[in-house]
This record gives sequence, structure tokens and C-alpha cells, in this order.
Amino acid sequence: MSLKRGRPAPKLNRACMLCGMVQSMNQFRNEGCPNCESVLHFADNDELARECTSPTFEGLVAVNGNKSSWVARWLRIESFVPGLYAVKVSGKLPDDVREDLYQQGIDYRPRDGSVQD
Ligand SMILES: [Zn+2]
Repeated sequence: MSLKRGRPAPKLNRACMLCGMVQSMNQFRNEGCPNCESVLHFADNDELARECTSPTFEGLVAVNGNKSSWVARWLRIESFVPGLYAVKVSGKLPDDVREDLYQQGIDYRPRDGSVQD
């Protein structure tokens, strides 16, 4: 892309491995993922925030507040935060996190393309 902008874009450099939301590492570290914080609890936990997000992702899509969105379906939540989401995220959540999600009734599917819908 040759498009030049006057202002640098915000550093959207990590994608949540659970819902695919893209934010900066600082946002994830300080506030967790707006969608998944209630189940992942990685705010203020630098190590966990790193383990649950990935710097490698593809295919950004802007998602609005549509309730029938795949993101909401995936997470089985009524509403989710509008924003940028990655279609594909490399990496997998750590086993203990997955176990934790399972206990909470959340069916985690890696978003790295290894599992087809
Ligand atoms: Zn998330």
C-alpha cells in the first residue's frame, strides 16, 4: 500500500487468540481483551497477556455491534465490542488456559486455521 497518512496509526500489533480482536500490547496488558477479560483475566498480567495474544495475524475486519456476528456466536456472548478483528491468528492458548475455558463451558477453537468451521 502506498497510501500515506499524516498521523501514524495506533499500534495495533497483537490479536487476542480467543476472539481475534486486535489491539496494542499496552491495551491488552492494561485492560485485557474487551470481549474475553471476563473469562481470560489477563489484565495486569503481562505474561498471561502475552500468552493469550499473538503478534502474528492476518485479515483484519472491522466488526460493528451486530449481535449475530460470528464473533458473538463464537464466544457465545450477547454483545461484544465493535472493533478490528483478525480472521486468522497464529498460535494457541496455553493448555491451562484452555482447561480453564473448558471449565467455563467455552469451546475454544484455535484461530490459526488448523480447525475448520
Ligand atoms: Zn478476546
